[in-house]
Amino acid sequence: MMSGNGDFEIRGISMTHTDNYFLREVIDARWERQGKSENVAICLGCLKTLYKKNRGAVEENKNGVWHECYIIPVKDGGDNTLDNCGILCKECNTIYSDDSNEIDTIEKLREYKSKEFNKKVKKGVIPPAIPPGHHRK
Ligand SMILES: [Zn+2]
Repeated sequence: MMSGNGDFEIRGISMTHTDNYFLREVIDARWERQGKSENVAICLGCLKTLYKKNRGAVEENKNGVWHECYIIPVKDGGDNTLDNCGILCKECNTIYSDDSNEIDTIEKLREYKSKEFNKKVKKGVIPPAIPPGHHRK
C-alpha cells in the first residue's frame, strides 16, 4: 500500500499547504467537532486520541500528534472551509496525503484502519461525523 517513495519522507507537508491553508479559527472549530474536550480530540480515520498541544509535532516519541487535512485536496478543487477540514493523527495523515495509494476518502481510510477503528468503537468511542468536503466552483 505504501510506496516507499522518497517524496513522502517529508511528512505532513504536501504541496497544497504551500499555496493554501486553513485559518486558525477553522482548525479550532474542527477540533471542537472532533473533540472530547478542549485539549483532547479523536482522529477522523482511526479514532486515536489526539492532544491539542501536539499539533504537527515532529518528535517520534510524542503521543497524540495530529495534522489538519483537506478532505478534498486543493488541487482537486477543495477549499479552506470547515466542511473541507479534517483532523487526523500523524499516521492517518501520511496515508491520506499519499497520492500513490487509493485512499482518497475518509471512508476508505477508516476501512484501511478498520482494526484500530473497530477496537475504539468497542471501547465506546463515537466516530466523529465525516466532513462533507467542499468544492470551489
Ligand atoms: Zn488516525
